[in-house]
Amino acid sequence: MSWLAEFDVRLAELDARSLRRRRRVVAPLDGARMAVDGVPLLAFCSNDYLGLAGHSALRAAVHEAVDRYGVGAGASPMVSGHGEANAALELELAAAVQLPRAVYFYAGYATNASLVQALVGAGDEIHADALNHACLIDGARLSRATIHRYGHGRLDELEAHLAASAARRKLVISDTVFSMDGDIADVAALVALCERYDALLLIDDAHGFGVLGPQGRGALAAAGLIGERASPRVIYMATLGKALGVAGAFIAGPENLIEWLLQKTRSYTYATAAPALLAQALRASLACVLGAEGETRRAALHANQARLRERLAPGACAAVDAMGWRLAHSPSAIQPLIVGGNDAALALMAALQRRGYWVPAIRPPTVAEGTARLRIALSAAHTPADVDGLADAIAAEAADLQRLST
Ligand SMILES: *Cc1c(COP(=O)(O)O)cnc(C)c1O
Repeated sequence: MSWLAEFDVRLAELDARSLRRRRRVVAPLDGARMAVDGVPLLAFCSNDYLGLAGHSALRAAVHEAVDRYGVGAGASPMVSGHGEANAALELELAAAVQLPRAVYFYAGYATNASLVQALVGAGDEIHADALNHACLIDGARLSRATIHRYGHGRLDELEAHLAASAARRKLVISDTVFSMDGDIADVAALVALCERYDALLLIDDAHGFGVLGPQGRGALAAAGLIGERASPRVIYMATLGKALGVAGAFIAGPENLIEWLLQKTRSYTYATAAPALLAQALRASLACVLGAEGETRRAALHANQARLRERLAPGACAAVDAMGWRLAHSPSAIQPLIVGGNDAALALMAALQRRGYWVPAIRPPTVAEGTARLRIALSAAHTPADVDGLADAIAAEAADLQRLST
């Protein structure tokens, strides 16, 4: 078969296994509602956990920034793209996470994909949680360091690897909140292991910054490892397109490590800087997150989490239990409902869509075979009635399927 003909065959294979991903065209409506291919749906699929993406203060900041700075940054930050808004944002980000220094990147994926090779190379070792985000995995591969993956959350396994290691440079890499499971790494224990075994730690707080810890300062703050208690071995990374509601990412940590990464991270040096309009939107967002409004929004988010968990707890709905659908054990805004098969997950997604809810089915290879799921993402933008509506729709669908099967 010619190479060109092969693409059709391989796409058909994806179809046959229910693995072809399709994009939907969306437009925001009020609250957490979206028009999805023109149909209004209540969305439980956005990582805009605090509902800030459409906030009036952020919109106003962008309008002002466009008038003042125009649109594009024009060049890499290493050339002429490091504008005053971006510089101010970096100081505010460092203050937010109470670490000595921060650098603002235009995108999270690109940051992690090239950060790791600035730290380790051939002959060095990476110790990575098995469920780390794809960009950390890609970054590890690009570095050409030897990769040891430890079982998800298995710090005993990690410790055994570190204890047995003869490598001079050891880098431990972990998500804080795992993006498809919603559980949270034991950051304090990871830091302690790195101190004991002379390793560095890179943590990705994409789903924690803005949500976890006092004032939403993130996973390190939640573990009390900032300010005076910050470890010189930790590189903190977080993205700004989720709870912060905008786009981009940042790294923060000790002065010398951050200065080194600024010199050597290729996605920073060789990419055009983020536009000032995004930096200004982020400064407005950060002020909300750290202030009273952030407190109120986090409280609403946490109430929604508790409400959904109560409604879908084992024993709460016999039909849901009988279908074998179960909520993963998650203390975060990501509440996965494990369904099992790819087709079953897609069918449930479609059924909920007919009932007016949009909850994405997540299938392998993003998650392990046999654990296809609905990834329910909660937000402060959801009302309690929104959450009840989703739980009712899931229960009603389970009851219908049970009736059909008996
Ligand atoms: C979303 C995400 C990223 C990527 O960030 P972008 O800014 O969207 O490119 C990186 N790491 C984790 C854990 C994420 O969930």
